Amino acid sequence: MTEVQYTTLPETRVPVSAEADVVVIGGGPAGIASAISSAENGARTLLIEQRGFLGGMGTVSLVPAFCPFTDKEKPIIRGIGLELLERMKSEAGEAFQQEYEEWLDWVPIDAEALKRVYDDAVLEKGVHPLYHTFVYDVVLSASKRQIEGILIVNKSGLSLVRCKYIIDATGDADIAAKAGVPFQKGGSEGELQPGSMCYLLSNVDRYCFQQFLKDTQDTVQLHRTVERGIAEGALPEGRKSISGLAWISDTLVGVNFGHVFGIDGTKAEDLTRGAIEGRRLVERQIRFFRKYVPGFEQAHLVASGEQIGIRETRRIQGDYVLTAEDFMQARTFEDDIARNAYYIDIHLANSKSEMTINHLPPGQSHGVPYRVLLPVGIDNLWVPGRAASSDRAVQGSLRVMPNCFAMGQAAGTAAAMAACHSLTSREVSVPELQKRLLDRGAWLGEGVVQG
Ligand SMILES: Cc1cc2nc3c(=O)[nH]c(=O)nc-3n(C[C@H](O)[C@H](O)[C@H](O)COP(=O)(O)OP(=O)(O)OC[C@H]3O[C@@H](n4cnc5c(N)ncnc54)[C@H](O)[C@@H]3O)c2cc1C
Repeated sequence: MTEVQYTTLPETRVPVSAEADVVVIGGGPAGIASAISSAENGARTLLIEQRGFLGGMGTVSLVPAFCPFTDKEKPIIRGIGLELLERMKSEAGEAFQQEYEEWLDWVPIDAEALKRVYDDAVLEKGVHPLYHTFVYDVVLSASKRQIEGILIVNKSGLSLVRCKYIIDATGDADIAAKAGVPFQKGGSEGELQPGSMCYLLSNVDRYCFQQFLKDTQDTVQLHRTVERGIAEGALPEGRKSISGLAWISDTLVGVNFGHVFGIDGTKAEDLTRGAIEGRRLVERQIRFFRKYVPGFEQAHLVASGEQIGIRETRRIQGDYVLTAEDFMQARTFEDDIARNAYYIDIHLANSKSEMTINHLPPGQSHGVPYRVLLPVGIDNLWVPGRAASSDRAVQGSLRVMPNCFAMGQAAGTAAAMAACHSLTSREVSVPELQKRLLDRGAWLGEGVVQG
């Protein structure tokens, strides 16, 4: 490892470019729901996103479908997340709406429709969005328990945003890490789930493809065909199936297939390698599709992710660390702010290892306590989404988009409550928070009724 060299910059005066009660950083599912609920609960809310649009992995990296909103018996992710899902269905056009009207699980993502839905949804609530802006540092109070401001960089230059409360929805806990919150990254050996470059193919024929599955008895994940492709050298070693095909129309499909290993999404060099290797892999996969999969002979690559999809980076240490045992026992907590039923889905860290998958029985879910959003040591910060406080196994489940919406809704509501009454994150009344979540359509488990 080469030693890092440092230099000292001259003292810089930076302008204060904005001020808000609640600043949400990151416009993925966790950040969008945070911003909407914060504004709905009366806080002046600024939403900062490095890209020119919202959506996080679902739009930036073209992750092709929403994971289940149900526990296989009933919807358990409701509230803001479910509303946004329904809005995307209608924005995606009549044919899409008709086909997926009854679906709550694995609904394909029309990324362009979703971007418009997210823009409208935050603007309607009076959120101030600031796109094309990267947050690169924080300013702490003398006690080091409060973040007083964040340093941003964008086309206008460097500046400071003053804030009373912060929601770190970067997915990578960038802000928490800068504020000195302890975190873990990956497994005991530092291994991380792989990245995937997702993409969109047009000019494909869904009916021809379905006929091929019938004729060959292959699965929708093309187990046999992929295995044959690997054996014949058309595909590299690795997972012997496709993670998912999501049909946006009869001729347009979103693809999540294959892995790029050893990518740490908090390192620019790794993201660069992931982008280049990811695009090369996509090119190889398309050649495979055209040759091996009827219906894909004329497939045309419309787009690949602007960034390689990142499943796992930092997990903050929160006031509570949700564990695999909590998951398997389907535990309930007094301070639950959401329920989760998605299976533990840990993708292989290298091309020789196996996937880890653990399901709860249909109808069962576990609670997600408020404390997993609260990073130790800081009193005005919440971390909902992929980087919330859990062990590695549970992160493999909690990380999916419906859960991120639910955690975001709770974080935004709590932050606005804190802002309105000048409280710390830990002083927020949990029963009042739960009541507000239920009033706004969330589901917190059997017997916990809406107000
Ligand atoms: C390949 C792959 C397949 C997946 N499949 C599915 C699936 O089928 N269904 C499902 O529901 N989930 C799936 N997931 C998981 C899911 O997409 C993510 O875990 C989820 O999007 C995380 O949401 P988030 O809001 O926490 O973070 P993200 O979606 O990552 O959003 C974070 C946002 O913050 C912005 N940001 C980050 N750092 C900064 C900064 N410093 N300054 C400003 N902005 C910043 C980013 O640009 C991004 O928009 C998949 C993930 C991957 C990678």
